[in-house]
Amino acid sequence: MATDLEIAVRKVVSTNPATGERLREIDCASPTQVQRVVSRAGEAQPAWAALGLKKRTAILGQFQHLLLEKKVEIATLITREAGKPYVEALLTEVLVVLDATRFLIENAHGFLRPERVPHGGLAMKAKTGHLLREPHGVIGIVSPWNYPFSIPAVEALAALVTGNAVVLKPSEFTSLVGLELASLLHASGVPQAVFQVVVGDGAAGAALLDSPIDKLVFTGSVATGKRVAQAAATRLLPVLLELGGKDPMLVLDDADLEVASSAAVWGAFLNAGQTCLSVERCYVHRSLYEPFLETCVEKTGKLRVGHGLDPETEIGPMIHDRQLRVVEEQVNEAKALGARVLAGGSPLPELGPHFYAPTVLADVTHAMRIMREETFGPVLSVAPFADDEEAIRLANDSDFGLAASVWTRDGQRGEAVARRIVAGTVMVNDTISCFGISEAPHGGVKASGIGRAHGRSGMEEMVRVKYLDTDRLPRVKKVWWYGYGASFARQMEAFIDFQFARGLGKRLKSLPKSAGALLDRKVEAAAHPCRVWHSPKAFSRMRLFLSRIRAASAVPVRWFLWGPEKPQSRTLPSSFPTIS
Ligand code: NAD
Repeated sequence: MATDLEIAVRKVVSTNPATGERLREIDCASPTQVQRVVSRAGEAQPAWAALGLKKRTAILGQFQHLLLEKKVEIATLITREAGKPYVEALLTEVLVVLDATRFLIENAHGFLRPERVPHGGLAMKAKTGHLLREPHGVIGIVSPWNYPFSIPAVEALAALVTGNAVVLKPSEFTSLVGLELASLLHASGVPQAVFQVVVGDGAAGAALLDSPIDKLVFTGSVATGKRVAQAAATRLLPVLLELGGKDPMLVLDDADLEVASSAAVWGAFLNAGQTCLSVERCYVHRSLYEPFLETCVEKTGKLRVGHGLDPETEIGPMIHDRQLRVVEEQVNEAKALGARVLAGGSPLPELGPHFYAPTVLADVTHAMRIMREETFGPVLSVAPFADDEEAIRLANDSDFGLAASVWTRDGQRGEAVARRIVAGTVMVNDTISCFGISEAPHGGVKASGIGRAHGRSGMEEMVRVKYLDTDRLPRVKKVWWYGYGASFARQMEAFIDFQFARGLGKRLKSLPKSAGALLDRKVEAAAHPCRVWHSPKAFSRMRLFLSRIRAASAVPVRWFLWGPEKPQSRTLPSSFPTIS
């Protein structure tokens, strides 16, 4: 095992995947440094939470302003470090974050406002309940390289606006983008200690998990996600897991061929196929199968592969060798098992170290790894189906469940099919763009993860819910407290029947029984007369309470209010509502 000293001198090398150019070397944070960073964040967090939402949203507004001003610079850095075409960096990273900031500014107040919890149970009507949403404390974020800005930024902004401090461990392949996010946040007014970055590889991620963070938000592969979940379980650390996908695209027999084929090509090749929401499996109705393939091949042939900073480029490089090899292996295996390679099918070393030709495969089957494991490369794998039932069965035949899309001219039919697909998101007649809908939750089922980022659900992940309950009759002992006995048991039976017996007759029948039992319980009441009426405030609350109960049903109020403590000495005003 590496010692602390050894880890401290390790470095990550930021590289341009299109050229192999080394951009910068950065020291990895050692486990001790990670602990220190998290402690510092923990100390700074209470003041950040106490700053108040108004000031925090103002800082988010400043962040939005700065990001807008620096959009070209940020998008260029993303392209240099992650390889994607500049326009994709602008749209899927900068724009997504600008809009997420808009969403948080608009919605954080409503979200954090105490939420009234009305009580339906008759016995609990005298209480008021509220949900309070409080920050966890320090949120650790471990993020991947494929959306190195939008993924950690959206998560961090949701954590910050709700009053948490954040420690981000960006992917070792995109540390510079992570550090740039920190600069932007600090320049906007987020205190240094409230948002910090620890640079490093998996060891730094593991150290963050091992530090006193209060929650971990992890985005990455299923394999790492499982390791993270296991480590988190040992200390019952709450985790949000955003993991891999194998998203199916279902092209029904009435789909617009031209639109669906363009969607398939874009959905499979966006960011060189390195998108968790990529179209990884494309199922096409048999009647459209061959024309669909022809159209896709034609459109794929026109795509320009190259350096992301060239404005003509539509597909950039893959992130690294390892990812390229996964794609090569899966394509080669599919070929060997009978898939037809209609376009691409091999690396493009003449363009640079990590380029792979956009590839169209036909006649793929679920016996092939390319239809079962995440490919995460520029491959459009297409298979035919006979009817909607088969398409749904194929879509659901996967360990993953991140997202899916259904293509049809009939919206209702599309929605009916969508409801039967097991996934976190299903889009009808679009793909991937759900990630850019700031209001929409993002996350998967099955191996694709646990929990949701983005939207209101994303904010929910950043808070602990506290239930606050206040009894409005502070001078009244509860009916269900001690003083048990046979008559009390009958009283309870009748009370339960009064609420839940089937039919109005049975319910009303229980009323006198309950009241009769009540009369038996006078002993304690005589000894401890209830003095609730001596307080005008309590009296007005009682009136409100009674009027609500009366409106709700003909409850045996006397019994319910006083139970074994029926007041002996009180004077009721003539206007007091009585229930017979
Ligand atoms: P990865 O799992 O290799 O790494 C993700 C992060 O985890 C990195 O920062 C890495 O350093 C860190 N890490 C590695 N080992 C760790 C450990 N033991 N403890 C803690 N952290 C550790 O994934 P990747 O290659 O960076 O990203 C690609 C994967 O991410 C794909 O599977 C993709 O589908 C998935 N992804 C999912 C979503 C989503 O929203 N569901 C979004 C983007 C990417």
